[in-house]
Amino acid sequence: MAERVGFIGLGAIGRPIAKHVAGRFETVVWNRTAARALEFAQATGVRVADSPGALVKQVDVVITCLPTSREVWGVADAAGGAWRAGQLLIDATSGDPFTSRELAKRLGASKVGFVDAPVSGGVAGAEAGKLTVMVGGDETWVARARPIIEAYAVKIVHVGAVGTGHATKAVNNALLAVNLLAAGEGLAALAKMGVPAARALEVINASSGRSNVTENLVPQRVVTRAWARTFRLALLNKDLDIAADLLRDAEVPHETIGLAWRLFAEGRKALGEEADHVEIIKLIEKQAGVEIR
Ligand code: NDP
Repeated sequence: MAERVGFIGLGAIGRPIAKHVAGRFETVVWNRTAARALEFAQATGVRVADSPGALVKQVDVVITCLPTSREVWGVADAAGGAWRAGQLLIDATSGDPFTSRELAKRLGASKVGFVDAPVSGGVAGAEAGKLTVMVGGDETWVARARPIIEAYAVKIVHVGAVGTGHATKAVNNALLAVNLLAAGEGLAALAKMGVPAARALEVINASSGRSNVTENLVPQRVVTRAWARTFRLALLNKDLDIAADLLRDAEVPHETIGLAWRLFAEGRKALGEEADHVEIIKLIEKQAGVEIR
């Protein structure tokens, strides 16, 4: 019998993911701001639950896509006695591995499964149904989650036990943050030397310094001055928090990622909760007194 899926968190990336899920599975949604859930239901024909508990009662599998593991814990807790044996929670949040292990244990006591399955590929990747998903959890639960994740992903990698999906995502995003800072600083220096960004990028993107930042983010958002808002800087700051904790816990050097964490924490204070992650480059431009064009 086909799974009935409940989706919690219709934010910037949750909404396009939920749309793909709703295209393949009978779906029920809940969102903290009810208007967003109602608008989504009108557009897709899904049902809206009036609380996390009401949603859990109506489905076999629940997907959460919330800012942090704290909110995931909050909704799982709010659903309380509604959970029943055999259900599965797929957490698509870029969450914290330590909280996820605790939550998995807690749900496991009621024979409810848990997999951490954060996503990569941005809002554009989510809209196209072409995300990369890194999954942590027991093999049986991961196998159960896979056909549902396939609704919005083209690459699904089972990386290890519960928490390792979230750990892998935090490390990936720490690399994104470091690349943003380094590209911003380097391109600002070249701009001051009279090298147009397009020329600098033509070289870098055919050379060993290229990354998603130089291939996509800088040309599409910085050089054009479009500064699209798709992934909040505050959320990348949260990912760096998780990565820094992880590295400290593993007792490995964390000078570079620690510095990126500090610069993004300062950027969050300066630019606010709604700024996009790429806007960190605005601060570098301001300090350098130059625009990357
Ligand atoms: P948004 O801030 O756009 O959306 C957050 C969602 O969580 C909204 O539906 C919001 O509801 C809900 N929410 C916030 N606080 C609570 C709460 N206390 N209780 C219940 N619901 C709550 O975030 P994104 O969609 O961008 O990100 C979601 C997750 O995906 C994050 O972990 C992020 O790091 C990750 N991610 C995001 C990417 C992106 O490109 N945006 C890319 C890859 C991963 P409401 O409508 O009421 O505000």
